[in-house]
Amino acid sequence: MSKEKQFVKEITPQGEDFSRWYIDVIKKADLMSYSPVRGCIVFKPDSYEIWENIQRELDGRFKETGHRNAYFPMFIPESFFQKEKDHIEGFNPELPWVTEAGGEKLEERLAIRPTSETMVGHMYAEWINSYRDLPLLINQWANVVRWEKRTQPFLRTSEFLWQEGHTAHEDEADARRETMQMLDIYKDFAENFLAIPVIIGQKTPSEKFAGAVDTYSIEAMMKDGKAVQAGTSHYLGTNFAVAFDIKYLDRENQHQFCHTTSWGVSTRLIGALIMVHGDDRGLALPPKVAPTQVIMIPIGPPKTRDQVVGRVDELFKELKQAGVRVKVDDRPDQSPGWKFNEYEMRGIPVRVELGPRDMENGQVVLVSRISGEKRIVKQENFVEEVKNMLAEIHQQMYDRAKQFRDDNFSSVDTLDEFKAFLEQKRGFALAGWCSSEACEAQVKEETGATSRNIPFDPVEHKSTCLVCGEASKHTVVFGRAY
Ligand code: AMP
Repeated sequence: MSKEKQFVKEITPQGEDFSRWYIDVIKKADLMSYSPVRGCIVFKPDSYEIWENIQRELDGRFKETGHRNAYFPMFIPESFFQKEKDHIEGFNPELPWVTEAGGEKLEERLAIRPTSETMVGHMYAEWINSYRDLPLLINQWANVVRWEKRTQPFLRTSEFLWQEGHTAHEDEADARRETMQMLDIYKDFAENFLAIPVIIGQKTPSEKFAGAVDTYSIEAMMKDGKAVQAGTSHYLGTNFAVAFDIKYLDRENQHQFCHTTSWGVSTRLIGALIMVHGDDRGLALPPKVAPTQVIMIPIGPPKTRDQVVGRVDELFKELKQAGVRVKVDDRPDQSPGWKFNEYEMRGIPVRVELGPRDMENGQVVLVSRISGEKRIVKQENFVEEVKNMLAEIHQQMYDRAKQFRDDNFSSVDTLDEFKAFLEQKRGFALAGWCSSEACEAQVKEETGATSRNIPFDPVEHKSTCLVCGEASKHTVVFGRAY
């Protein structure tokens, strides 16, 4: 792509072309560059820092619940993949292979990991001997590769960054508890850290992870009504334990297979953040994950400049000391108006303005990125007022996203109703499903929408299948997805 094409003058309005809007925003906000390899992107500092904040928060939650980090190699021998039939079937089309290294053809091809169940399985078979070794609770922060046909920056890339948890347990009950615990952590994290409301539920068999017994997900709605699977937690049963011989001696000295789980979220979350919260002015970042939470801009004529900048610096230090991520832009060669637009476009939650009149009155102006509200506060209460505004912004962003999702959530009884809904509107629909794969496939074929999940907590239960009209076994959320 030429330099010229990368330069975005105006952000395309969301209502005109949502996909264009997305690309315009991530380029203008300088979040990423395309790499020469298809589907692979460079995470530039502003998006990487979002990822670091996600990592820090999640890592804390994983450790609080007893998990420890480890690192496994990225090359996986082909024979490992052959051991679990469903796993290889599901992942084979997306695997990149290393066939030569050091100038020689390898005896066995090595896959670049798309996920690490096989490598971890191999190691756990070595590490686990007795019930005393269980549960084994490990997480890995890593990059993985899946040669995706359709790609989209952050949301679906060929190489992406993620965490993958891998745990082994004595029995089904303990492994299922872990699967649910991690799903709950993802939901709480999405809502309370990223301000993204999610639907928590179980994937249908055709959408589950290759090799899992059950897959659970959190699903979020983007501003164009499409879904993003924002995280998954899998109960793997004894599938990988049998394939890799992960056994332990129980309290009666009998050999038992472990029950295992895995769970992951990826840099896809950055794409979801952009699409859930962004608007026609650009990015809007929820305060807890924003690399910069507050931007301070001194204003006024040159003759009061030194004084104003001096006071801004003092207030900056107070805020920084209180643990707020704050920056000052006191460049004299850019106008305040230009800076206001720039930082709005970059999604910084709070802007602080200070001019000569504010100095005289002992006040300072706070402006919210998402509501545009201007709040004049006393300098003596500065830190407290900023913290309050950040907390309010988080809540407002969550409430807005939830309202949007509720407004674009329908309930349908038949496939025709669902089609009509998708033609006139956008969003998700709740519908009954008889549990046959054929009916699910027909929905996809005729609407392009897939089953997102079987929500744990649906607003209503539907009694008939939307396709065949037979009694429904599950109430499912359907929607088009990224
Ligand atoms: P999985 O191991 O397939 O359950 O994937 C775990 C999580 O990684 C999914 O829930 C997605 O949020 C994310 N993910 C899967 N594929 C991609 C991709 N190509 N690019 C970015 N994120 C992905």
